[in-house]
Amino acid sequence: EKIFSGFSKTRDNLAAIDELLLFWNLADTDRVLDELEEALLVSDFGPNITIKIVEALRKDILGGKLKSGTEIKDALKAFVLNLLTSKQIKTELQLGFRKPAVIMIVGVNGGGKTTSLGKLAYRLKNEGVKILMAAGDTFRAAAGDQLEIWAERTGSEIVFGEGEKIKASSVLSQAVKRGKEEGFDVVLCDTSGRLHTNYSLMEELIACKKAVHKVVRGAPNEILLVLDGTTGLNMLPQAREFNEVVGITGLILTKLDGSARGGCVVSVVDELGIPVKFVGVGEGVEDLQPFDAEAFVNAIFS
Ligand code: GDP
Repeated sequence: EKIFSGFSKTRDNLAAIDELLLFWNLADTDRVLDELEEALLVSDFGPNITIKIVEALRKDILGGKLKSGTEIKDALKAFVLNLLTSKQIKTELQLGFRKPAVIMIVGVNGGGKTTSLGKLAYRLKNEGVKILMAAGDTFRAAAGDQLEIWAERTGSEIVFGEGEKIKASSVLSQAVKRGKEEGFDVVLCDTSGRLHTNYSLMEELIACKKAVHKVVRGAPNEILLVLDGTTGLNMLPQAREFNEVVGITGLILTKLDGSARGGCVVSVVDELGIPVKFVGVGEGVEDLQPFDAEAFVNAIFS
């Protein structure tokens, strides 16, 4: 339900197709498919996927497999769903069996990293998970305060790290050590998000990864990349770089409620082969939803 309302802007972009399909007849095919192509591009499905979809539909229409607007619409939805489910492996968090499980949240500033971490803590807490937060965004001064509010809200503990000029990797290492000693289930690690073009950020993230791995084998269990959904396809190069350097296990796409470019979800999954694990569909604590491909398809092509 939340997913449905969260994608209303993208749905509006695609709504024009509905009317066209309602009055579709064979002679209209080229015009209808042109309009569909336009609507998919405007919604940031990206040129590759858009062409794949439109040409597959054209083939089935001309081959007589699709005989009505409703059948075309159903085929369109099935095609997108298939794109997502064939690439979307393990959309659920994989937390392993050693305690504590370690989740690193990474991404550039302003994308919604700290907020998503807080919302994720809220979800996990409701499942009875005991959470320790690590204030690893040592670059942005306000991040620690923001995290503290989320810790209070979710009854979580938080580690800021000790020592002068603390390094993010040291904060994470201290947090995971404490998590292990005190029996926490999950350590949720915030990290810095200066621009990805600054190479030292990538070095820092690698150091963070190594530091937690030293404390708990198999950690980090998840490295979730937070991407701003309002940037649409522009998120792709950034996602690629993070993935190449750090190795991303899942994506959190935020601010989709404010974005008409929700088709980028399909493009990102298709191009990167990394599962979308959560979507941010609002500013409330409950507005981080596990990604459900079927609900998504029904939300954008309702
Ligand atoms: P960070 O710099 O990556 O840690 O970003 P923040 O977590 O501080 O988020 C930046 C802004 O985006 C804040 O105002 C958040 O409330 C807002 N935000 C984050 N996720 C969402 C979302 O899913 N929907 C909307 N509408 N706003 C969001």
